[in-house]
Amino acid sequence: MQYTSKEVYEFVSKQSKDPIVEWKKCRLSWQEFPIYQSDLESYDKISPVFEVSESYAKEFFERNSDLKDNFEYKDGKLKAKIPTPTLCPEERERRRYAFRNENNLYKRKCDFSWKSIISMYSPDKEYKVFDQEFRRWDSRNPLDYWFSYTWNFKSDFSLLLKKTPVIGKFIIDGVNSSYTNHILRPKDSYLCFNSVGIEDCMYMREWDRTKYCFNCDYVIRCEHCADCVQCYDCFNTFNCLHCYNCSFCNDCEKCTDCHYCLDCYNIENKSYCINNVQYTKQEYEKMILSYKKNHKDTKIVLWCSQKWCENSYWNDLTNCKNCSFFYESFDCSDSKYFNRQIQLENCMDLQWYYEQLTIEWISTTNSYHWWFMFYWDNNKESWYYSNCYNCSNIFGCIWLKNKEYCILNKEYSKEEYNKLVPQIIAEMMRNYERGEFFDPKLSYYGYNETIAMDYYPLTKEDALNMWYKWSDYEAPAPKVEKIVLWANLPKVWCKVIQEKKPEFLQKIVNYAIICEVSKKPFRITKQEIDFYVKHNLPIPTKHPDIRHQERLKRKDPTTMHLIHCDECGEEMLSVHLPWKWKKILCEKCFYKEK
Ligand SMILES: [Zn+2]
Repeated sequence: MQYTSKEVYEFVSKQSKDPIVEWKKCRLSWQEFPIYQSDLESYDKISPVFEVSESYAKEFFERNSDLKDNFEYKDGKLKAKIPTPTLCPEERERRRYAFRNENNLYKRKCDFSWKSIISMYSPDKEYKVFDQEFRRWDSRNPLDYWFSYTWNFKSDFSLLLKKTPVIGKFIIDGVNSSYTNHILRPKDSYLCFNSVGIEDCMYMREWDRTKYCFNCDYVIRCEHCADCVQCYDCFNTFNCLHCYNCSFCNDCEKCTDCHYCLDCYNIENKSYCINNVQYTKQEYEKMILSYKKNHKDTKIVLWCSQKWCENSYWNDLTNCKNCSFFYESFDCSDSKYFNRQIQLENCMDLQWYYEQLTIEWISTTNSYHWWFMFYWDNNKESWYYSNCYNCSNIFGCIWLKNKEYCILNKEYSKEEYNKLVPQIIAEMMRNYERGEFFDPKLSYYGYNETIAMDYYPLTKEDALNMWYKWSDYEAPAPKVEKIVLWANLPKVWCKVIQEKKPEFLQKIVNYAIICEVSKKPFRITKQEIDFYVKHNLPIPTKHPDIRHQERLKRKDPTTMHLIHCDECGEEMLSVHLPWKWKKILCEKCFYKEK
């Protein structure tokens, strides 16, 4: 990982006319990071208010005279002002990621029905794990698990986490897709994570409305694709990167509206090209049979990828306005420090889906005005909670449904709630706990089980030194007919195997293959074999997690650098580093050159 440099922060300030009001030093990385004028405005807008009487407000300020600058009383409302962060944006992101396990699934027992289930919690974890079917369970009584606040929120919440059930996986409206997680509306899919509305897909991460695709990362509205990364509206493309609306293309990169192209780069509206050279249909069809990929490293690249954006800084953005320090997002406005977002407004520091006025959260949907939480949907005006559904005005709660005015799962009257919560916040402020995301020790997972390991890899020793947890759990070997070493697999395409030795393909679904990189065993399904035969692909020799890590390396980097256009010399931000490319160009020069 790389931290954002001071010069990049200053460039964004200059370009967006947003002054830096303070420089802070991250308490973990010692990196300097800025507080922008607009950050202060956002924190103020997001800060929660509590309706209290004037006499109570007076009493509150007398009791908390040391914190009078952190609260404000106006028109019957006591506002708890969110303080500026003590961690740099990268360390804030790392900590949120350490609360999300997407792809590590385990077999364990449901602690309610004692049935065997697939869960994101390994069997050695001390939490009560319930099956997915109890996700919106009406007979739940989480108020059974209540706690009275003891003036130490962190230890109270930690005890509540251990006592209260969690749901084994995060699947909403799934059909025949039990080996998936963090997913909305999957159908007939397997080992797919972090996605919305997919059908007949396998080994996918981060996709939206996609059908019949395999081994892809961040693909939107694609069909019949494999090994593609960051592609939109593509059909029947293989091993493509950053392509828009292409079909029947192989090994292409940054192409738009192209069809029947091979090994091309940066072209638009073309057909029958190989390595950016135009051929006739007949020539193309003949040449592709014996074509060897050209590895010439003389590419010209655009500073970064944005479509229909205004006053927005960073990479891979579509239709965004007044946003910075974020990537892989679309239809967002007035927000900062996030990624992989859709339709976000007035938010800071977050990951995953459809929010307004929120701060520091991970994994949720359709919520409004809340602070510091992980998992679950449809909540509003709530703080420090996990696994709650359709709640409002809750603080430090877990596994509640349709509730309001609760603290640590205990119900209060509206008046009691509005008096007690500001007092808890004041105590947290004295313990340096408030205004930030959860302590890493409260994560359900080991750092090595979470997506933090994909984006901010650490050794066990370093993770423990940074107060993260670590999992040493090893799943038992799969019960299969035979274990095959990757090197012993046939070295021909599946179509050839199907013609010469079809019984082998029928048998292999009962085997486990030892991955050539991680040496971890993995399995192949019938659906997968059919796909490989149809599209003439070989049997994979790497574990799905290794394939995912290799795809991540193909994606554009996420840190911006301040560089100059290689044609006109204009100062600009880019995710690309000059020594890796022949030329990096601004938009004007890039299209002139093309
Ligand atoms: Zn230029």
